[in-house]
Amino acid sequence: LGLLPTTFTKVKPAVTETIREITITPTDHIDTWSPDSWRSKRAAQAVEYADKDALEETCAYLRQLPPLVNPSEIEQARAQLYHVALGRAFVIQGGDCAESFHDIKYDIIKKKVELLRQQSEVLEEALGMTVIPLGRIAGQYAKPRSNPFETLPSGEKIHAFRGHNVNSEDPNRRQPDPNRLLLGYFYAAASQNTIRHVSTHSAPSAGKTPGKSFLYTSHEALHLPYESALTRDHYNLSATTIWLGERTRQLDGAHVEYARGLRNPIGVKVGPTATADEVVAILNALSPDRSQCGKVTLITRMGCGRVRSVLPPIIRAVQLSGHVPIWMCDPCHGNTFATSTGVKTRRAEDLLQELKETYIAHRSLGSRLGGIHLEQTGEDVTECMDGERTTCEEDLGQCYQSLCDPRLSREQALWLVKQFGEFVKN
Ligand code: PEP
Ligand code: MN
Repeated sequence: LGLLPTTFTKVKPAVTETIREITITPTDHIDTWSPDSWRSKRAAQAVEYADKDALEETCAYLRQLPPLVNPSEIEQARAQLYHVALGRAFVIQGGDCAESFHDIKYDIIKKKVELLRQQSEVLEEALGMTVIPLGRIAGQYAKPRSNPFETLPSGEKIHAFRGHNVNSEDPNRRQPDPNRLLLGYFYAAASQNTIRHVSTHSAPSAGKTPGKSFLYTSHEALHLPYESALTRDHYNLSATTIWLGERTRQLDGAHVEYARGLRNPIGVKVGPTATADEVVAILNALSPDRSQCGKVTLITRMGCGRVRSVLPPIIRAVQLSGHVPIWMCDPCHGNTFATSTGVKTRRAEDLLQELKETYIAHRSLGSRLGGIHLEQTGEDVTECMDGERTTCEEDLGQCYQSLCDPRLSREQALWLVKQFGEFVKN
């Protein structure tokens, strides 16, 4: 890059009027929190940089850059999500597993925004309530991996691909490079700019979306040096909402410590091995004040066929705890499998099945499913199986472009929400 100045002056983060107007009630719990208090805890999935000083220099530079979202947008999202938690609105969250720096192009972003808008219209019609679109976009650049290394056919051991904020998908450029965090910031800014442009300049279809002039953004808050460098007071200003992954939600870990002090809405992935006690303990940590309805979104990703046995005890324990989170279903991550040649894919039918099972589990306990979380793109990719265009391994090869997990194509993603909408209506 060669863009980094060599010396930095520490500047106090600018406190905007909007921040001052909001009363944050400090509790003992929050008092020990700072954007960097996570540093005293163990961070799972932390990236090992060869040059740690270079990382700190980059973070010092990031701390001086302008916010990507406003605190007022975060507060507005909180106010809307409050209604979701109470069952009066719904969320459709979607986007790439790992956004690519190469996809920061006007048309690609526009199609992603339009897909979410169309999905929200379909769901609004089916559910008879407001549906809030939320992009996995403008910052979804860091990935957790089950195995931090990969072995090439030559026997050489290299770092696994960890998202474009960390390294390249090119096997020859896998060394984590802190300069990529700066690129990530500027690509996120360009994406935000494009989202705002698309939202203002393309007419909403059927004129049904007043108030939906802008798309909220989200990403996994995995890379804590980056996330905390973009945190001012109690706001992570790199996205409207962030989430903690299935692999980084340890109760005594750095990610929970970082997230618990934020005003941003926070998602937490909950997989099939999570216990009811564990989930309630995470809610206690992230939202000690139980009156904060919708502050936390529990994103369950159990896998179809497993929902009926693992989800109900968790729902019951949360109900008894007095917390009122949003319940969201990610039907993608519990249904991934590899073909005989090792291509990662998912069946659209399995995704629909998990959505239905989750919806029923909530209904039968007097709880409510408040949202759907999908890996998808506006492009015509062939990464998931749909029983029509993509039925076998050869079909997947036609247009498989994902850097990480398989995404639903535009058509598959629309099919899925339409089917789910029909199921709910009947
Ligand atoms: C993801 O959302 O891409 C992801 C890694 O999910 P999970 O943390 O649920 O495995
Ligand atoms: Mn994924």
